[in-house]
Amino acid sequence: MFKQIELKYNVNALEPHIDETTMITHYTKHHAAYTANLNAALEKIPELSSSSIEDILKNLSNISDEALKTTIRNNGGGFHNHNLYFTTLSPNGGGQPEGELAKQIEHDFGDFNAVKEKLSTAAATRFGSGWAWLSANKNGDLNVSSSPNQDNPIIESQGEWVPILGIDVWEHAYYLKYKNLRVDYIKAFFNVVDWKEVAKIYSNIKLS
Ligand code: MN
Repeated sequence: MFKQIELKYNVNALEPHIDETTMITHYTKHHAAYTANLNAALEKIPELSSSSIEDILKNLSNISDEALKTTIRNNGGGFHNHNLYFTTLSPNGGGQPEGELAKQIEHDFGDFNAVKEKLSTAAATRFGSGWAWLSANKNGDLNVSSSPNQDNPIIESQGEWVPILGIDVWEHAYYLKYKNLRVDYIKAFFNVVDWKEVAKIYSNIKLS
């Protein structure tokens, strides 16, 4: 049974950048539904009952039933993506990463503003529902990309790339407050990114 991560902050703590009603709906309805649907689908594949969500997403091609594979791709992706999203936000967020993540950003992109710009563009230009990602591989290299629906780099690269930060650009993530102005939401998102947490996830991927 997979469980949603617990929020480390109150649902109104990310105001004014991410509003309370969006947080409540996003966490208690959308994320909860992905989690429940994932668990229901996995009941039909008992051999996966002790697998991590990363391993399940890496090895989707092993699931022979096409309908079940699609359900697990959509809801397993949704479960994992939202765990990452809510984990890497904080009322004390914003600013820039430090340490080895900052160094790698300089190495791969030039400077922090360059990676922020690249991520923002990936998020703004993702047509329809999806995500923009900052991902890492085991060598510690970084990459910016975007995915449709609830896909992510683990699914797309069979685990070679793992996201360390994701910008949810489904309308449910911003429409109540920002309406059609996705770009304003993306700008505000960076004010609540917990770069310390992102750096921790980055180090774990490098070590794994
Ligand atoms: Mn979402």
